[in-house]
Amino acid sequence: MKIIWFCIPAHGHTNPTLGIVRALTGAGHTVYYFSYEMFREKIEGVGATFFPCDDYNFEEQDADFAEKFGKDQSFAVKLMVSATIGLDGMVSEKIKELQPDLIVSDSVAFWGKLASMKFGLPYICSTTTFAFNRYSGKYNSHGIGETLRMLLAMPEVNRQIKRLRDKGYPVKGILDIVTNDNDTNTIVYTSKYYQPCAETFSDRYHFIGPSIRPITQKYEKTAEKTVYISMGTVNNNREFYRNCIEVLGKTDYQVIISMGTNPDHFDNLPSNIQIYESVDQMAVLSIADAFITHCGMNSASEGLYFGVPLILFPQTPEQGAVAKRTAELGAGLKLPSIKQQDILKCLTRVLEEPGFKEGAGKVSESFKNAGGIEEAVAFIERIGNKQ
Ligand code: UDP
Repeated sequence: MKIIWFCIPAHGHTNPTLGIVRALTGAGHTVYYFSYEMFREKIEGVGATFFPCDDYNFEEQDADFAEKFGKDQSFAVKLMVSATIGLDGMVSEKIKELQPDLIVSDSVAFWGKLASMKFGLPYICSTTTFAFNRYSGKYNSHGIGETLRMLLAMPEVNRQIKRLRDKGYPVKGILDIVTNDNDTNTIVYTSKYYQPCAETFSDRYHFIGPSIRPITQKYEKTAEKTVYISMGTVNNNREFYRNCIEVLGKTDYQVIISMGTNPDHFDNLPSNIQIYESVDQMAVLSIADAFITHCGMNSASEGLYFGVPLILFPQTPEQGAVAKRTAELGAGLKLPSIKQQDILKCLTRVLEEPGFKEGAGKVSESFKNAGGIEEAVAFIERIGNKQ
């Protein structure tokens, strides 16, 4: 079987797919993975043929692009359309040449879904966040309903849709692109138990559980309680880290901090605190008793997989949804502020009240019992062979 896979240039969206791609290529299927140079090595490492999208991306780019993207919905649509049209020539040519049996595309790599519509190919959506529909969308502080209503009302959005139609994409409206329904074949990297409103999704949704990388390093456990702190690979908040260091430096806990992208270190560190630019997160979680996290879907899932209760410190609406669900299942506690006393109080509760560990254990069990890579591969083979 020949599969074309599309992804955006983000670790959190790429990493979970790699195990499935490795299993597919191992089973003799051909995977053509369209992504970005920074991921070439990883993608080729799992046996896929890599196609770089770097040179084709957007037609135009603004300096204040990142800021606008978050705030201005019509700009986000314009960008999505722009990326699709930028890639259109190369992607269309490759699809004609490679004759794939199906397309798998990340839920926000909209150009993959659009290419499947243009060429009438079977499509599977790869969703590295929770799956969102009108029920689970309520977990996001910007409800998707509200966002869609805004989008539908914008003349600019309709102009962009017309541009796609002119390029041969049979889209009726924005809803075709940005929403999935119960007819959309979807792989979600979580369990039915952790997914909010799981019962509202059809059996076309496969909740396969998170992908957990093997442990490659060893971290010594030096205290009875080990606390791991990370804000992921995107966020950085020096004041928060400083407060953690000051207040937790006075405790007996072993504290391991991953600073993410920022390599700056702090001076005069208390001896119970270790700071790294980046850690083997699986290794640290395997010895941790609590995890202070920004609630990135991957980090939260990895922590819970190891049965580690979470102190929830979300920074975006999507991370807010992860935090809300985790708290709801009793597997974590929301940090009310970054004040030193709040950090200590929250952490102490999570470490001392057994309910949190039990809550995390239940999520862990659901992850371990999910169908995993095997279920995803069987699903992909079934959809690809249907033609
Ligand atoms: N990660 C890691 N080492 C670190 C910090 C993070 O390996 O020191 C990994 C982590 O295991 C997770 C990913 O980076 O798989 C972060 O993804 P997540 O969705 O949690 O957050 P994002 O960085 O996308 O905000």
